[in-house]
This record gives sequence, C-alpha cells and structure tokens, in this order.
Amino acid sequence: MDYLPLFFTLKKRPCLLIGGGSIALRKARLLLRAGAELLVVAPEINPELKALVDANNGKCLNSEYQVQLLSDVVLVISATDDEDVNKKVAGDCKARNIPVNVVDNPELCTVIMPAIVDRSPLMIAVSSGGSAPVLTRVVRSKLETLIPGRFGNLAKFASRFRNKIKTAIRDGELRRRFWEDIIDGAIGESVLKGNEQQAELALENKLTSQKKNKQEINGEVYLVGAGPGDPDLLTFKALRLMQRAEVVLYDRLVSQPILDMVRRDAEFIYVGKRRAEHAVDQRDINQLLVDHALQGKRVLRLKGGDPFIFGRGGEEIDLLAQNHIPFQVVPGITAASGCAAYAGIPLTHRDYAQSVRFITGHLKEGALSLSDQDLVHDNQTLVFYMGLVALKEICEQLIAIGRAKDTPCALIEQGTTEKQRVHLSDLANIYTLVESRNVKAPTLFIIGGVVKLHEKLQWFKGQ
Ligand code: SAH
Repeated sequence: MDYLPLFFTLKKRPCLLIGGGSIALRKARLLLRAGAELLVVAPEINPELKALVDANNGKCLNSEYQVQLLSDVVLVISATDDEDVNKKVAGDCKARNIPVNVVDNPELCTVIMPAIVDRSPLMIAVSSGGSAPVLTRVVRSKLETLIPGRFGNLAKFASRFRNKIKTAIRDGELRRRFWEDIIDGAIGESVLKGNEQQAELALENKLTSQKKNKQEINGEVYLVGAGPGDPDLLTFKALRLMQRAEVVLYDRLVSQPILDMVRRDAEFIYVGKRRAEHAVDQRDINQLLVDHALQGKRVLRLKGGDPFIFGRGGEEIDLLAQNHIPFQVVPGITAASGCAAYAGIPLTHRDYAQSVRFITGHLKEGALSLSDQDLVHDNQTLVFYMGLVALKEICEQLIAIGRAKDTPCALIEQGTTEKQRVHLSDLANIYTLVESRNVKAPTLFIIGGVVKLHEKLQWFKGQ
C-alpha cells in the first residue's frame, strides 16, 4: 500500500490554495464543500474563482506565493502551472510537516486527492496513487451508476437510529444482522424511494418484533422493465435491483446479455411467454411471485420493455397488493421507443404525426377487429405490438377502414439488438415483403409518414 486513505476534516480550518485558474477553481469548490476557510493566492485570480471565494467568506490575495503564507494552515494545494513555484511550495510544506498536494504531480505531494462519489454522509474515495487517473475516473463513474443518488439519505436515516438500536439490541452480532436487514432490505428500499415515514414505521415494528423474538417476513417483489433488448438501455434502478434479487422470474423477451447482469447466485425461473405458448399460465406467475415473497425472498420479476405497456404488470401487482407484499415497479424503455430510436423513426414529428397510438395486434379468439375510425388519420403514427402473426389482417383492415394503401410502414425485427433488421414498405405490400424474408419475433410494426425519415435518420445498422 503506497498511501493510507484518510478522511480529512476541514470545517472552519484554514487552507491555502495557490493558483488562480480553472484548476484552482475546481479545487476551491471541493475545499469549500468540505467547509474549509480558504485563502487563495495568485498574481491573477479568475473572476469566477474570486466570486466563489468571496461568497464563502474566504479570502483572495493577488500576489506571488510566499513562505509566510504557510503559518497556521492545515492543508496546502498548489494548482499553478509554474513548475518552480510548485516545487518551492512542496519543499516548504514538507519542511514544516504541512500536508501538501500539487495538482497532477504525485512526486511533489504528501497527500493526493482521490476521485470521489459523494453521497454525504457516505463518501467513497477512489485512487490509483496517481498512476492511472483515467482508470480511477472510470471506476468512479461505475460506482456513480451503481449507488443511487438517494444513498446519502439512507446513511442519514441510519445515523438517526444508531443510538436507539444500540440500546435496544445489545448483542453486537445480532445488531449487525439487524442493520444488514435494514440497509439491504425493504426498509432501506423505502428510504431510497423517498418514503422515510413508511421506513420509520417499519423500523419501529421490526424493533418491536426483534424484542419479542419474533421471526418476520421481509420478502418483496421488484417488477422491473428490462427494455427492448440492448442491455445499455436498462435504467440504473433496474440494474441495482437486478443485483439484489434472490429469485428471478423472467420471460422470453428478456435477452441473455440482460440476464447476465442479474446477481449470479440468484435462482432463475423461466416463465415463458412465446406468443400464444405460455410456458407458465399468468395466474401461476402471479402466485409464484406471492409464494416466493412470503418465504422472505427478494423476488425480481423481469419483463421485456416496460412492465405497464402490454406487460400485464398491473395484474401481477394486484395479487401482491392483496397479500400486502411490498413491491416496486421500475419502468423500462418500451419496444416502441427503443425500436423507433434505433431505426431512426421519430414516433411524432411536426411535419408528419401529431400523435401516436400503441395497439396490440394480438388476436382475440383468432380474430382482430380494428374498427376505430381514429386509426385512419394520416397524422397519427400507429405502433402495433405483437403484430407479426396478424400482419396481413392488420394491413387489410386498416385499408378497409380508409387508411391510404401507400402509407409507409416499417417492421422492426429484434429491435435494438445486434440482430435488428428494418423491413420497409407500404400498407399494401409489407406483408408480401415480410413473408419473403424469414423474419423472427419479436417484431414491432410502425405505420405512418414518419417512417419516411428512416433513410435520413438511421444510425444503428444492426446486422
Ligand atoms: N412490455 C413490452 C411489450 C410486451 S408485448 C414493452 O413495453 O416493450 C411483446 C411485444 O413487444 C412483441 O410481440 C413485440 O411486438 C414487442 N417487442 C418487444 N421487444 C421487441 C424488440 N426488441 N423488437 C421488436 N419488438 C419488440
């Protein structure tokens, strides 16, 4: 270990910053965030820096660095591009045992600045000891995405209850487990959701049952939209819950690269859903969610796209609500948004479409009926989900109710994945085209003038 990581308290303590440019400005922001009493010294000081320091009761001194400035300071940062000044500052500080940091020059430093993820009071510092700053930044940004913005609230929440729990649970090991349950369980999730009142109540209940030595059930369900296929389209929240789950119920639309991002030691249960070939009946899926949650598990219901768009998410949480099981719903990018974006087809456009309709092409009892006169308007984009099997009927019925035969349309196959293909034609001819091309589900069918924009706006080629 080349450095010992420490956290330095600077509240109301005098710090010296040498330099007046944009790097000094960045350092000043950090020092002030930590509450330092700041003195900035440079022959010329950037006005933004000066304004910042003035606004925070600091001082600016337009002068060269002099050794006398070191009296009484607890930390010195040198952010000048003058090598001689930097060397002199470092030497003077070392001679007086004052911690010194020279920006971008680890050899001259006695302390180095880590990259930080600030979820105060929780603080994460990452450092490569100055040897690979880019790597450090990459790690930092990965942590940023993994640790929710509200994590600081969780740390504050925990500190509010620290003493109370310490008094209530004397045994150290029991207390540790109690805390783990809170931070990593439903109570912690409530805080992250912004529902502290509910969390407080649950914590009090948990404390009471702990005192009575009662076993309690902490199961919960996450209904998570996994987007249309490209794993990069997952939300941060989806990813976080995917990594917490103990049991995962997933269907066919969820792609393998996405499943690979779920916690590896979770139990995976395939619940099917190829069109019309339901591996597990919907009622059984609903019940499975309830059963696993009642066993105290964290259950992930992973669904393609968005759970509330043709996803039957509403039915699944209905049974959970009836059984008083805590759940969360995480929206995902629905196939229409994902496919449209990756195919370069804006769903609305000032010149072509003022509205968009999402419609199911699923045949009810083997038949489709599109009688709604609204569907014929030229300035409305229509998006059919589950429309491959009934493609011919969809086109014929739309033409029958009056939509123009030459309305442009696109069938997007396996959208947003590497296998994406876009089949273009018009309402009268798309079926014949698709029939000749060995198209594989899932496909999304987009109809309307906006499809013309594909040639100009496409950027993602897929296969
Ligand atoms: N909840 C999902 C939709 C489920 S219904 C969502 O919000 O996207 C299943 C239908 O979604 C499929 O029949 C297909 O029409 C569409 N779909 C889902 N993923 C798709 C993809 N990657 N490419 C094309 N269509 C897709």
